[in-house]
Amino acid sequence: MNIKNIFQRIQNIFKPQAELQDEVIVRFLRILEDVRAEEMPCDEMFARLDEFVEAEVQSHDAEKLMPLVREHLDMCHECDEEYEALLTVLENTK
Ligand SMILES: [Zn+2]
Repeated sequence: MNIKNIFQRIQNIFKPQAELQDEVIVRFLRILEDVRAEEMPCDEMFARLDEFVEAEVQSHDAEKLMPLVREHLDMCHECDEEYEALLTVLENTK
């Protein structure tokens, strides 16, 4: 069963006989993406933190390059502290 069939069956529960639009699937997938971003585990975060801080120090473009990392930092105090510490170290070694 592919993902469209799954969504079609879910929609049929609420609105029987309605044709499922591709646009609806795309929106649904975006929501799933967002949820996944919010659930980025901290260890995955740490793996990308070096890169993020590096980009931040060099061009201040880190947020644009890695919005998910920024998002995680806003929500996770622990990783944010780690980020601040790394940033301080890098800025002082320039
Ligand atoms: Zn975290």
